[in-house]
Amino acid sequence: MKNLWCWRCKMEVPMLDEEEYKIASKLYRNGFETGKCSMTRKKRFKDLLDYYKDLTGFEETNPNAIMHHRIELYGSACENCSKPYRTPKASFCAACGNKKDTSLINYSESLKKTAPKWWQKLLVLNRAD
Ligand SMILES: [Zn+2]
Ligand SMILES: [Zn+2]
Repeated sequence: MKNLWCWRCKMEVPMLDEEEYKIASKLYRNGFETGKCSMTRKKRFKDLLDYYKDLTGFEETNPNAIMHHRIELYGSACENCSKPYRTPKASFCAACGNKKDTSLINYSESLKKTAPKWWQKLLVLNRAD
């Protein structure tokens, strides 16, 4: 869990990491499977809301909001303003315009975008050793 700026809510909220999100999505599914139509959303997804509150101390009432509070969805935090880069693939910060530090992009990803050069094969072969 990490407090991050949410682009949809326009505020800082506790976001779940992948492990925490896995549990949340299970509770969310349970709400759909075991809940009844006559229940309010708050009742139906009580386990999920309780889980989120236990984890974050934040009393969320909208289960759908929790499901988009997932760190993975927004990518890493901007080096300049520390808001997340909106998507993991963003090349610059949507909040302050800071260009993302692309030196961190891993080799296999940059390989997909540009046509391979003859010497890149050598690098791949070396890595497989
Ligand atoms: Zn949000
Ligand atoms: Zn920024």
